Amino acid sequence: MSETSETFIEKSTLKANDLEHRRKINYNIGKYNAVVPVGKQQFNNVGLARERAKNLKWKAIETLDEHLQEFEAAFTKRGGKVIWAEDAKQALDEILAICKEKNCKTIVKSKSMVTEEIKLNDFLEENNIESVETDLGEYIQQLDNEPPYHIVTPAMHKSKEDVAKLFHEKLNTDINLTPEELTLVAREKLRQKYTEAEIGITGANFIIADTGAIAVTENEGNARLSCAFPKTHIAITGIEKVIPSLSDLSLFWPLLATYGTGQQLTVYNTIVAGPKQPGEVDGPEEMYVILLDNGRTNILANEKLRESLYCIRCGACLNACPVYKNIGGHSYEATYSGPIGAVITPQLKNLGEWKHLSYASSLCGNCTEVCAVKINLHELLLENRHDAVKEGDASWGEKIAWKVWKQSSLSRMLMNRGNKRIKNWLVNKVFKGWTAHRGDLDFSSRTFNELWKEKRK
Ligand code: SF4
Repeated sequence: MSETSETFIEKSTLKANDLEHRRKINYNIGKYNAVVPVGKQQFNNVGLARERAKNLKWKAIETLDEHLQEFEAAFTKRGGKVIWAEDAKQALDEILAICKEKNCKTIVKSKSMVTEEIKLNDFLEENNIESVETDLGEYIQQLDNEPPYHIVTPAMHKSKEDVAKLFHEKLNTDINLTPEELTLVAREKLRQKYTEAEIGITGANFIIADTGAIAVTENEGNARLSCAFPKTHIAITGIEKVIPSLSDLSLFWPLLATYGTGQQLTVYNTIVAGPKQPGEVDGPEEMYVILLDNGRTNILANEKLRESLYCIRCGACLNACPVYKNIGGHSYEATYSGPIGAVITPQLKNLGEWKHLSYASSLCGNCTEVCAVKINLHELLLENRHDAVKEGDASWGEKIAWKVWKQSSLSRMLMNRGNKRIKNWLVNKVFKGWTAHRGDLDFSSRTFNELWKEKRK
């Protein structure tokens, strides 16, 4: 068992027994579940909308190289600079080089999972550059020295009382502040940072190939300020975020909003097509887009798993997952948690070390059911398991047990042999790993044959 797998089991066991944690998550996901069906009403045919979105992402990913080059040509024409980064180190080195050139001391940063993936804040701190999270949820997490808990709602596991206590401890505010008052405190602190920062860093929800622009979606306006206030804007994004055309946003924006938060449209949707142009009054003087691979081309090379690159990070599969709701986002110890995280993390990082995430699923298929772009998530989890077994990542005991099970299942005579007690003993003892975190299996006292015959009488 890998070290990451042991930590995962330890952390998830603790969280699964933490009833207060479960209460907070159920409360927050309950609010989400109440509004998403309302948001879906904006679509005449939501199934068709998802199907169309999936087809568009299929088109974008199948010709990813062409679309990225199309983006680069159009973006650079307007004075933007594109940096191709093969891995996290290259991306970080490039960002540091820009920071040094601009003599940068302070960065304002909007919410971006890719910057979490490359551990940007830690890196900047090591290099004596202050990086301030400007999304309220991320700001809370940064104050608490914790990574985001959820890809859309970073502080989902915290109640308003938890946040008031945190602000009291870290910012010396009154412990009884209301959510509105807490927001005002954060806003006041952040406004000053926007004016000080030399560089603003954002992610990108979409890379628009035909226009050579990026699209950023948010509810607070902080990403827009992070792009526009500082003299330099760096956007860092995974290469899979590409969509073929600007007109595709008319489908992706409502889908992302509804599946992410139940809104018809997110409050701020900004399209940034390069630095400030002659005659324009707003915007940065320089703009860079860093296109990050960091393992994505490994997924692209895998015909079956390629589909996971269609993800628009709406977070719906996390909210629907019974495992996520019990063990929470931090137990995964990965940037991307929940079903999509369990699919892509072993591929982005290392299958041998991270395959356990693909086994942490009941395969109920709820994730596939709710996915905004209809990714067959539960089948991809099986694909990872299949790859792990092919790579020899299964113990001798497990291999023998499955062989015996297969032979028995293929023989009606063997299946009918043995009474309930023997079967219970055999399975619950042989599959010790199975029963460590689940109740014992309890076989029927009658065979399948007997039950079947009785049913057909
Ligand atoms: S896999 Fe689907 S449901 Fe999950 S975050 Fe991505 S788009 Fe949303």
